[in-house]
Amino acid sequence: MSTLDKSCRIIALFNQAGGVAKTTLTMNLGYHLSQRGQRVLLIDMDPQGSLSIFMGSIPEELPATLYEAVVDEKPLYIVENFQGMDFAPTNQDLRIAEMQLVSAELRDFRLKNAIEPIQEEYDFILIDCPPSLGILSYISLVAATHILVPVQTQFKAFEGTNLLLETYARVRTRVNRQLKLAGFVPTIYAAQNSQDVRALAAINEQLSPEGKIFPPIPRATAFADASENRVPLAVYNSKHPAVAVLDLIAQSLEEIE
Ligand code: ADP
Ligand code: MG
Repeated sequence: MSTLDKSCRIIALFNQAGGVAKTTLTMNLGYHLSQRGQRVLLIDMDPQGSLSIFMGSIPEELPATLYEAVVDEKPLYIVENFQGMDFAPTNQDLRIAEMQLVSAELRDFRLKNAIEPIQEEYDFILIDCPPSLGILSYISLVAATHILVPVQTQFKAFEGTNLLLETYARVRTRVNRQLKLAGFVPTIYAAQNSQDVRALAAINEQLSPEGKIFPPIPRATAFADASENRVPLAVYNSKHPAVAVLDLIAQSLEEIE
């Protein structure tokens, strides 16, 4: 079935833990989806702006960012056709937005409202969430149709899982009944490390009742090298073994309802 006749899937890459590869996956899965012919927009909701830096934009010189969209309710500012994807950048200003939104009227819908006018132009919108359970993550989940959860293949990954699933459930019952869990992506997986192997087995056992577990993304320094070069891994080294895994996950995302 052609995916072009499906409506836009808005996927929040969400995990309140930092360093679990949310941003890396946003950029790389977005790239693979666009290579597969999907129209892709990436949205950087992390005030740290890692995705904006990966994408090679210079936050200080941007005419507008997500701050203007969520605080001033201005149209979403989009940089077009970067590595085949469109991109809504951010910068440090978004940190201030976090405080200003605390008392803002109808704040839950600020990102949803910013996305709505342009969502028909895309098949996939990927939202790179900040490493927190704060308002910026919350409004991302309100705007999303799906959440995709990167989990590092370590036992400490389980420390935050309950809170994460509770947040998902809360958003579903309160404001966004349509929200679905697309699944978990085990990340930074070293198959030669027995602790990682055990952690992956535990992820499969404990989290599969909650949602689909995607194939693990191997640990590879090439990811950092690629982002330092401001390109997706597939552009940096098309023969890297992780490229096939990323493409497989992108293919599965095309099939989510
Ligand atoms: P998050 O957005 O969840 O904070 P990032 O995507 O910024 O995480 O990744 C954190 C760090 O881990 C970055 O330096 C990134 O290059 C590195 N990284 C991401 N995925 C992998 C991987 N599969 N193997 C090795 N390093 C990785
Ligand atoms: Mg990040």
